[in-house]
Amino acid sequence: MYILLMGPPGAGKGTQAEKLVAQFQIPHISTGDMFRAAVKNGTELGKEAKKYMDAGGLVPDAVTIGIVRERLTQKDCAKGFILDGFPRTTEQAMALDGILKDLSINLTGVVNIGVPDTELVSRVTGRRICKACGATYHIAYNPSKVEGICDKCGGVLYQRDDDKEETVKKRLEAYHDQTAPLIGYYKKQGVFIDIEGMQNIDKVYTDLLAALKK
Ligand SMILES: [Zn+2]
Repeated sequence: MYILLMGPPGAGKGTQAEKLVAQFQIPHISTGDMFRAAVKNGTELGKEAKKYMDAGGLVPDAVTIGIVRERLTQKDCAKGFILDGFPRTTEQAMALDGILKDLSINLTGVVNIGVPDTELVSRVTGRRICKACGATYHIAYNPSKVEGICDKCGGVLYQRDDDKEETVKKRLEAYHDQTAPLIGYYKKQGVFIDIEGMQNIDKVYTDLLAALKK
């Protein structure tokens, strides 16, 4: 299973990735994790990336692509992976094609979990996080027993700045601008899979597995 996972913030990518990891014993690789690992392991590219990250700037494509190559070449990726957060541009997608070709890997599917923007805004803006233990709640779908207080530890719940309505709308706009060309790119390759995200978690997963097995 060589999977690229796409989907806007709030579409439930993380939950679906967890299920795939548990069932297929393949690593879930997000761009953030990859960067952190490369920096931690002190690889040349990790050092390079750290310079840009410390300066608060974007890591250039050449470095990012090098880090992806480093990561996908590791042993635990031999029987599969779930790549999340990469590629973000058509240039990166073309570079990834090159890496996969070198590794003799064909993508099983590029999965997009589709959820309408209005729903995403309500999902994300309703999210609350415990300051003390990091547990997550939702004011409508998964409320704490006492409003504003964590069930697990009694800590105070708060809303991340990233989850405020204006920010969410901007993130979604950026997401759509960024991914529209990628969707076209992978549709042309015949590997694009669109999953209906407006269903319960288990049904989304069942649909996902059925589509990947085709
Ligand atoms: Zn807590």
